[in-house]
Amino acid sequence: MKLSNLFHPSSVAVIGASRKKGAVGREVLTNLIQSFDGEIFPVNPKADKIEGLKCYDRISKVPSYVDLAVVAVPAPIVPDVLQECSDAGTKDAIVVSGGFKEVGEEGAKLEEELATIARDNGLNVIGPNAIGVISTSSNLNASFAQEMALPGNISFMSQSGAFCTAVLDWANEVGMGFNHFVSLGNKAVLDEIDLIEEWDRDEGTEVILAYLEGIKRGSKFIERAKEVTKSTPIVVVKAGKTEEGASAAESHTGTITGSDDAYNAAFTQSGVIRAENIEELFDFGSILAHQSPPDTRKVGIITNAGGPGVMATDALDGYGLELAALQQSTLNKLEGVLSSLASRQNPIDLTGKADEKDYREALSYIIEDENVDSVLAMSAPAAIFSYPELTKVLADARQKTDKPIVGALMGGKLEPEAQDNLKNAGVPNYFDPARAVRALSALVKYGDIRRMDRSTPGHLTVQKEKAEEKLEELKETGNRVVGLEGLEVLDHYGIPTTPAKLARTPEEAADLAEDIGSLVVLKVDSSQIVHKSDAGGVKVGVEPADVAWEFQSMIDNLSDTQPGAEINGIRVQEMVEGEEVIVGSKRDPQFGQLIMFGLGGIYVEIMKDVSFRVAPVSTTQAREMVESINGYPILEGVRGKEGVDVDSLVNIVQRVSQFAVDHPEIGELDLNPVIASSKGAWVADVRFRFTQ
Ligand code: ADP
Ligand code: MG
Repeated sequence: MKLSNLFHPSSVAVIGASRKKGAVGREVLTNLIQSFDGEIFPVNPKADKIEGLKCYDRISKVPSYVDLAVVAVPAPIVPDVLQECSDAGTKDAIVVSGGFKEVGEEGAKLEEELATIARDNGLNVIGPNAIGVISTSSNLNASFAQEMALPGNISFMSQSGAFCTAVLDWANEVGMGFNHFVSLGNKAVLDEIDLIEEWDRDEGTEVILAYLEGIKRGSKFIERAKEVTKSTPIVVVKAGKTEEGASAAESHTGTITGSDDAYNAAFTQSGVIRAENIEELFDFGSILAHQSPPDTRKVGIITNAGGPGVMATDALDGYGLELAALQQSTLNKLEGVLSSLASRQNPIDLTGKADEKDYREALSYIIEDENVDSVLAMSAPAAIFSYPELTKVLADARQKTDKPIVGALMGGKLEPEAQDNLKNAGVPNYFDPARAVRALSALVKYGDIRRMDRSTPGHLTVQKEKAEEKLEELKETGNRVVGLEGLEVLDHYGIPTTPAKLARTPEEAADLAEDIGSLVVLKVDSSQIVHKSDAGGVKVGVEPADVAWEFQSMIDNLSDTQPGAEINGIRVQEMVEGEEVIVGSKRDPQFGQLIMFGLGGIYVEIMKDVSFRVAPVSTTQAREMVESINGYPILEGVRGKEGVDVDSLVNIVQRVSQFAVDHPEIGELDLNPVIASSKGAWVADVRFRFTQ
């Protein structure tokens, strides 16, 4: 494996090993001595021996080959030290020293130097400014964290060092174990992409958890994570620290879209499960680490208390899971266990009289039921059984089935024996039934992710050169923002538009309307008027006979309200009936072109009923975008109203995606509205902004 020396070294050098207790270089050394079975070489030219180990002046003086170097020297000499490591044949290093990008410009320069040396020499470097790396499968604590992690099959990475130490402290307390535990530091060389790939290949890792503040290589992340999540679930909690682009948005897409939308889209597309908070991160991790996704969303619930059963049922609904309808044969079998007071439907309420034998029997029937694909076992504490007994029941049940079993054993802290029973059987337990359901929903979601469409979007036939020519022409006007005059560009990408021809006089407008021969829409053409209807520059539903008069009246009004605006004329467009939607794009600094779809028209910013994907989007993804907005039923047709041609919207979304990818100089694009009916969908208004 590419990073095997980082996680499974047979020898480690600590460069900058210090004699001073409490110094980072000393803490790392002590941790290594306490954990690691392989060779350890302290490097410090000023000491002969530290903690009984012989010290070396430099790494080149170490008599044998060193797999991994932990670098704890002051920042200014880190680049040289890395070069020495490389010259000595060491290819893997962890830089725990601080004083880089996090302290300002000077540090950023050093970090750049460090990265260049790593790149030129093919060095794998974690950090700088990292706490270090812990690998329980190699008994390696190459960090200055205060404790070693417990063994486990979860691998965790964190961009925040403080968060690393806090998590470790907590995990040791609750008995959560890790395979690898990495503080990423400033990610100058290795980042989350390298680690997810490594851990996907890693036998001991069942689930990858990450705390990230940002992802720099956005497209690469999607490309790689999409592969990894086929076999290894990834859960990410992402702190919202990304800087927004400073440019003022000119489009609805630009205004609505935040950088978090890009992250959400990227996570959806790559099958990464996003946790909203730390609790979710580890709740999801603890279930994904031990259980496999169920085949369906159907859940059987067993409880000894009605109220919490109802809570769990409500939670199922909230997280998109379903209460299984038990088979008649199961109900018959349950008759024997249930008291007269018990509920005979799912959730099965055994009542407070149930002892652990009743649980055992009822649980076995529920598990056997073909309509049940996962089980939530709940209980309130009762004198008739103990939690060590009940947890044994759950643990035994887990042995007999592949169906997920989650516990919501309520009450105070479980006895150590009860905790061990659950832990050894891989049954996660949550105090709150809603939390148990939420964790189960993450498992179900991972099942969906495994099955998700990962095909790469096919290339559509478009006239790219013609579009380029037109774009060049538009750029030459010097206008950064393009309006309806840009409609033709879309034609070259096979995007259906409603022509809007420019009239300079009332007579020209009347002639154009006559040619159209039905109701028309008049729209002002002026590069100073970006939002036409806001300025009184749009008139819908005009009879051809009234066009000349309406033309003049619009011009007169605008000369009052928009005195400075240079008006080229008025565009005449056919009035189209249908639902208004918006299709747009915005360039994101990390992920490239972000595509947006939503219910459109003038209220789009108020409704914000939109969905996002990172371009290029496949047909399946484009369809998901259309189907996932809240207003989708409106597009499907409600109350006797005919639905719209969804396929044509899917087609437009895909073509917009390709247009945006082919023309990265377009920073923002709005097709608003696209008017959709049962007959098709047409772009009635366009606006885009060049960034270069
Ligand atoms: P702007 O966005 O600059 O205000 P639009 O061209 O989008 O101007 O027009 C504003 C509104 O007018 C649209 O949201 C839509 O409701 C209506 N409209 C515009 N063009 C048409 C058309 N061809 N057919 C029907 N309604 C239209
Ligand atoms: Mg518009």
